Amino acid sequence: MKVTRQEGEQRASASADATKTSAPAKASKGYGSLDIVALATARNDFAPRDLRRAPPAELHKRQTVLALRAALVAERGVDAPAIDPRYFDVTRMNARIDEMVAKYPAIATKIDLSALPGAAKTHEGRSIFALKLSGKPVAGGKPAVVIVAQHHARELNSGYVAQAAMERIASAYGKDPALTKLLDEREVYIVPIVNPDGVNTVFTEERFWRKNRAMNADGSRGVDINRNYPFLFGACGTSDQGSSEVYKGPAAASEPEARTMMALQHELRPELYIDFHNHGNEVLTLYPPCAKVDPAMKAMDDHYIERLAKPMGFQSRPPSASGEAPHYYWSEGTFAYLVEVGTAFQPRFEETVEDEKKVWKGLSQALTTWAPAARGRVTSADGTPLHAHIQVKQPLFSHGEHTGSRKSDGLFSLWLPKGTWDVEIRAKGHVTKVVQVKVEAYDQAMTLDVKLDRAVDKVA
Ligand SMILES: [Zn+2]
Repeated sequence: MKVTRQEGEQRASASADATKTSAPAKASKGYGSLDIVALATARNDFAPRDLRRAPPAELHKRQTVLALRAALVAERGVDAPAIDPRYFDVTRMNARIDEMVAKYPAIATKIDLSALPGAAKTHEGRSIFALKLSGKPVAGGKPAVVIVAQHHARELNSGYVAQAAMERIASAYGKDPALTKLLDEREVYIVPIVNPDGVNTVFTEERFWRKNRAMNADGSRGVDINRNYPFLFGACGTSDQGSSEVYKGPAAASEPEARTMMALQHELRPELYIDFHNHGNEVLTLYPPCAKVDPAMKAMDDHYIERLAKPMGFQSRPPSASGEAPHYYWSEGTFAYLVEVGTAFQPRFEETVEDEKKVWKGLSQALTTWAPAARGRVTSADGTPLHAHIQVKQPLFSHGEHTGSRKSDGLFSLWLPKGTWDVEIRAKGHVTKVVQVKVEAYDQAMTLDVKLDRAVDKVA
């Protein structure tokens, strides 16, 4: 593909998650004849302002590198493959999961998420893989936690963060008391690449590819997977145009990657979900700007945002759009945050290593100290696990947010703001129950086991 300067600029202006601007086109004014730099920086994370500040020797070196890269683009008509080899492509990331299983066989398992009920392989036939980490088994099952990265393919820094979390958590088992407790009481699923087709494109064809590889009706390629989830689908910050970087797709959950991550939610009913992206050094609020949020819920969001962002040294902001993965997870009862890591999609690898250290401070806190208002099990009177729909009776939620107990063992988690709430528990063929849950402080999960009586059989 022949890349003109203009196209490069357009790509660059769409290069951050929707609301951000990193516009090298504008910043490149004043470089005079250095059009070649503008072209190369459009495909790179060297912002021209960095060049301006660089000492002369460094400036010369960078300009040489950029000029060579631009020459390669011109000659081959494709991006020059200049990704630091320490960033993982799809094959290497999947191999990394295998290595973890080999290294920690007692606690690590590789899971093919695309084989879950309701899940699917990607457009190019790939599976999405997770590493599952779990310590001692608990009779009746354990609540789950999910950590993911790379809905957006080019965000290689986020893939590194998720990948590093695998090693940090696994290697701490039996050594660090808090992380040992985490794996003994909960299961942790880490999905370092949600968008393997896109990541493959980044490594083979187009270094700053963002979306998946759907063939759109208008002939363009790719849906923004992180605009494709059904909660408030298309309500704000998305596009109907196939060529847009934030194209939401033809319908809610049209994309196999979104359906696979939804299948994981249904299977696990996880109590916590953390989704890594790049870039901005920010934690995004629980709801998109177009959602109606009760003040009590807002206070709870502020409380946890602060606890996640502060140890990382990050700020917070509302999400750019609706239909993002954390919104869906939260609408189904999983407390969920999106974290924008670092200052670039593919920064110098050494910078990524430093970013990860910062992020771990917040992530490890969340994993080891956060707890929902209640945890429990819904069963029938004879102890059979029930898949129940669990919803607050007061008008706390405006968009159908609820939680559910999982089919396999009836386990559920319930996150609620401070206050006294009537919680309705409803399961097919059973008499609905309402229980009162009083939340006076965060992270003090009460045990809430609920037995539902069978509905009376009216046929004599
Ligand atoms: Zn992103």
